Amino acid sequence: MKKEDMLNRLVENGFDFLNKAIEDLKDHPKFSVIHFHAAVELFLKARLMAEHWSLVISHRQDPDWNKFISGSFQSVSLDGAADRLEKVVRSGLSKSELKSFQEITKHRNKVVHFFHEAHSSEENSEQVRDIVKQQLTAWYFLHSILTTRWKDVFDQWNEPLLEVDKKLRSLHTFLQVVYDQIKPDIENKKKKGEAFEHCPSCGFESQHHETEHEVVYEAKCLVCGLNEMALKISCTSCGEEVTFTNEGFGQCGNCGEHFEPDDLTDVLIDEGAAYIAAKEGDSSWDLGNCSDCDGYHTVVRIESGEYTCTSCFLTVDHVEYCGWCNEPNTGDMEHSSWAGCNHCDGRAGWDKDD
Ligand SMILES: [Zn+2]
Ligand SMILES: [Zn+2]
Ligand SMILES: [Zn+2]
Ligand SMILES: [Zn+2]
Repeated sequence: MKKEDMLNRLVENGFDFLNKAIEDLKDHPKFSVIHFHAAVELFLKARLMAEHWSLVISHRQDPDWNKFISGSFQSVSLDGAADRLEKVVRSGLSKSELKSFQEITKHRNKVVHFFHEAHSSEENSEQVRDIVKQQLTAWYFLHSILTTRWKDVFDQWNEPLLEVDKKLRSLHTFLQVVYDQIKPDIENKKKKGEAFEHCPSCGFESQHHETEHEVVYEAKCLVCGLNEMALKISCTSCGEEVTFTNEGFGQCGNCGEHFEPDDLTDVLIDEGAAYIAAKEGDSSWDLGNCSDCDGYHTVVRIESGEYTCTSCFLTVDHVEYCGWCNEPNTGDMEHSSWAGCNHCDGRAGWDKDD
């Protein structure tokens, strides 16, 4: 048994469970929830496995290869996996991704202990719709992680990924009734100038957007509940509206201009105010660092006086200054004189070098 075989096994089981979750949805919703949860965990474990097999094992046990290949070990929990993905693999989950997966775990634990069979077909449809909403949004996140951030590891499963993506997305038909119900309301709001776009998870034109530019907001889908952080700007090349979701990487749909967090910072910063402030020795307009995504100089003060990270869209109403390097930071800087921030080592690092 080699490491690659174990990785293959994990991933193939992941696909099996996803397919079972889809098959069981209508007649055995309880098993759909359990299988879907197992699949999510397997894909996260597979990413850990690709880094090192011992990461898959619970922190309560000593890693032992023989026990590992015979399957007699306790595996890492969702939160434990998220922690290791962040700290060891250095390719962690965003807050919205983790939250969406935690919902899956919570629901799984609930149905294992308290599931009650539906007493009517209406009740059954209700159960199924709730599950579909959850699975569609979780899959939206998982699929995007597997095909972009962790592409190097999961590229070889391109085909099955495509297949299962198609199947899962087709589940949106279960939500048609939800969309039909709220459609008149959406039409009304559109007439009043509110913006709705096609939801990347369920596909209905039900994702509510702000119309104002250069502020981070939550774009929520009224059908499936997907909630993303979003930001709109006018394209610096052609002037058309460009929408960013969850991160500061994007492309203009009209002219093809590419944007990265640095470009967004240039757009968001009030250059006049920053220039005057700098001249007067006021550092409150200096670019800051983000403690959430480790972004360096990605935090910019926006017109409202708030601070937005152009990499992960974290928005806070104040920044603190690192006691050692003196740069603005979105995190808690209480012990920074000694411990530093995520971009300096503080006095501790200084003393060590001596
Ligand atoms: Zn949706
Ligand atoms: Zn453009
Ligand atoms: Zn950030
Ligand atoms: Zn610092």
